Amino acid sequence: MSIRIHSVPLGMDHCYVIQDKGTIMVDGGFPGTARAFKKALANLPIKPTDIGLVIITHGHFDHVGSASYIRGLTGARVAMHRADKELLEKEAMTWPPGVTVWGKISRGLFKPMLSLLRYDIPQVDVLLGDEGLSLEEYGISGRIIHTPGHSPGSVSVLLDTGDAFVGCMAQNSLPFCLGPRLPIYAQDIEKVKESWRLLIAEGARTIYPGHGKSFSIDVIRDLIRSLAHSQHHE
Ligand SMILES: [Zn+2]
Ligand SMILES: [Zn+2]
Repeated sequence: MSIRIHSVPLGMDHCYVIQDKGTIMVDGGFPGTARAFKKALANLPIKPTDIGLVIITHGHFDHVGSASYIRGLTGARVAMHRADKELLEKEAMTWPPGVTVWGKISRGLFKPMLSLLRYDIPQVDVLLGDEGLSLEEYGISGRIIHTPGHSPGSVSVLLDTGDAFVGCMAQNSLPFCLGPRLPIYAQDIEKVKESWRLLIAEGARTIYPGHGKSFSIDVIRDLIRSLAHSQHHE
C-alpha cells in the first residue's frame, strides 16, 4: 500500500492521519473537538485502534486540546518534545508573542476569549529530544525532526516522500493570514527560518501546516529569500 494522507480538521487545528504499514496522527486537535474526531474517523478506512502514535507538533493549546481524549479512544502513544511538555505544564493556555503587526494586535484580541477554554493536558508517552525519532517502528517511512522557533520544542514530521507536517512553522488560514506564510506568532522567528532551511535540506517538498491547506515548499523558499532581501536593504 502506498502512503495515504488524510486531512482531519479539528476546530482551528488542522490534524493529519497518515496511513502506510502503520497509522500515525499529527497533532491533537483544538479543545473540545472529540466528537469531530470520532466523526472524521468514521468516514475514513481506519479503526481508532489502528493509530499507534499521535505526534504533537508543539505544546500550544490549539494543538493538544483533544489529545487526551484521542489517546484514550485510540490507545495510541502520545509524542511531544521535552521542551514543550515543560512549557505546557507551566501554562496550559500559552502561545508565543506576535512577530507581525497583526500577530501583536490579534494576540490581544484573542486572549480574553481563549482564557475561557479548558482542556485536559495529555499524558506524554514518548518524550522527544533534539535528535528526533524514526517512525519505522510505527510502520511509517519518515521521521520526526526538531524544528524550533515557533516554540522551543516544535517538531515536524518529514516523510520519505517529501511530505512535511510542520505545525505552526507555517500558517495558511484565517484568522492568521490569507495565504501561506511564516507564523505570525513565534518565540524566535530567526530560529523558524533556520528550521525551514533544515527541512528544505532534508528534502521537504509539500507542506502541511497546522492551520490551513497544504502548499509547495517553493512558497517558503521564496518567502525566506524575499525576507533576507528586504533585511539587506533596510
Ligand atoms: Zn502554536
Ligand atoms: Zn496553532
